[in-house]
Amino acid sequence: MRQSKLFTKTTKDAPKEEEAKNAQLLIRAGFINKEMAGVYSYLPLGLKVVRKIENIIRKEMNETLEASEIFMPALHPLENYEKTGRENIDVLFRTKLATGRSLVLGQSHEEVVVPLIKNHLFSYRDLPIYVYQIQNKFRNELRAKSGILRGREFSMKDLYSFHSDEGDLEEYYEKSKKAYKNIFKEVGIGEETFITFADGGTFSKYSHEFQTVTGAGEDIIYICESCRLAVNDEIIDESPKCPECGTKKEDLRKEKSIEVGNIFKLKRRFSDPFDLRYTDENGHEKPVHMGCYGIGVGRLMGAVLEVNSDENGMIWPESIAPFKFHLIAIGEKAEKKAAEIYDKMEEDILYDDRNVGVGEKFADADLIGMPYRVVISEKTMENDSVEIRKRWSKEEKLVKIDKLQSHV
Ligand code: ATP
Ligand code: MG
Repeated sequence: MRQSKLFTKTTKDAPKEEEAKNAQLLIRAGFINKEMAGVYSYLPLGLKVVRKIENIIRKEMNETLEASEIFMPALHPLENYEKTGRENIDVLFRTKLATGRSLVLGQSHEEVVVPLIKNHLFSYRDLPIYVYQIQNKFRNELRAKSGILRGREFSMKDLYSFHSDEGDLEEYYEKSKKAYKNIFKEVGIGEETFITFADGGTFSKYSHEFQTVTGAGEDIIYICESCRLAVNDEIIDESPKCPECGTKKEDLRKEKSIEVGNIFKLKRRFSDPFDLRYTDENGHEKPVHMGCYGIGVGRLMGAVLEVNSDENGMIWPESIAPFKFHLIAIGEKAEKKAAEIYDKMEEDILYDDRNVGVGEKFADADLIGMPYRVVISEKTMENDSVEIRKRWSKEEKLVKIDKLQSHV
C-alpha cells in the first residue's frame, strides 16, 4: 500500500482521557478511532491486523477443532434469557421492538445457539456438533478504561460444542486447549500466556482461562513456572497451590494479567432450560452436554500490543502485522527504485511515498511498528542493496535488492 493513499494520519498525542497504552498507540498510529469509552472504529491498518488474527483463529477452529463457522444475530429475544435465568445479569443491554416486545443485545450466544441447534439435533447420529462464529458482543461494562482490552462493543470468537456424554465433552475440551495454545503462539504471545485454573461455576469444578502476563491486566494470577500453568487469584484460596505439582502459593509467581480466552464445560447448564435432548441407540431420550470456548479478537490485539511495544511505538509480530515491510526512500533516485520494488511486492509493503521529511517518516515507521523497516538511498544503491532494520531488535543489515523477499 502507498502511504499517500492512507486517509489516516499519525499524531504525537493520544486523547487525554485515554489511559490505556494499547489504545493510545493505536489511536496515535491511526489504527483505530475512539467513538466513546469502550467503543472504537477500526481503520484500514487496524482492520488488517484484526483480519489476520481472525484467520489464525479460523484455521484452528476449522482444522484442529473441526468446527463449522456460522453467524448469529446481535438482537435476541428477552424470553430466551428468562428461560436460562440470565435476564438480570449486570452487563445486559436491553432494547424494545416497536410492538413493545423486549429484546437484548447479545452479550454471548448460548441463548441463541441452543434453540438453533435444537432444530437440527435429533438422534445420537447427529452428535457431536461444533459451531463457532466471529461476531460483535455488547456488554454494559461498568468500567471501560482499558482501551480495546475491555470494550462495550467488541468482537469475539465463540465456539459451542454439543456432546452425547461428559466423556466426549472432556475429550474435545482437552483438544481445545491445544488449539488455543497454537493461536496464542502464532499471534506472538505464546511465552507470556498461561493456561489458568479458574472458577467453574455451579456445574464444573474448574474452567480454564488463557491469561497473558502484562501490567495492563485486570486479573491477578499465580504462575507455576515448572508446570507452565497458573491459578486465578479469585479461586486460589480454595486451592492454594499448583493443581499439577502441588507447589504452594508462596512459591508461585504473582503477576497481573489479562484474560485473552477461556473455555468452559457448560454441561447441561444451557441445554436443560431449552430441553435440548437426543435419542440414543436404544431409543432413550438423553440430555446434551455442552462446552463453550471464547477468545476476544480485539482484546487479543490489545494484549499483543501491551506485550510488544516500546517508547517509540508498536512492534507487530510478522504473523499479524498489517504489512511485513515499511519502505522509505531517501533522495529522488532512490524514490524511483523504491517504486519499482513496491510494484513487485505490493502485498508485503507499506511504501511511505508521502511528501514529508525523512525524520517524520522514520518516527512514523517506529510508531506504526511494521516488523522490518527498509531504507533505500543512493548510498545503499551503490551496492544494489537496501538497509533492513528489525523493529524489535533494532539490528540493521544491508541486503541485496533482489534478495529482499527471500531474506526474511
Ligand atoms: P472478563 O472476566 O475479562 O470480564 P469474561 O470472563 O466476562 O471476561 P467471557 O464472557 O468468557 O469473558 O468472554 C470470552 C472472551 O471474550 C474473554 O476471554 C475475553 O478475551 C473477551 N472479552 C470479554 N469481555 C470483553 C470486553 N468487554 N472487551 C473485549 N473483550 C472481551
Ligand atoms: Mg472471566
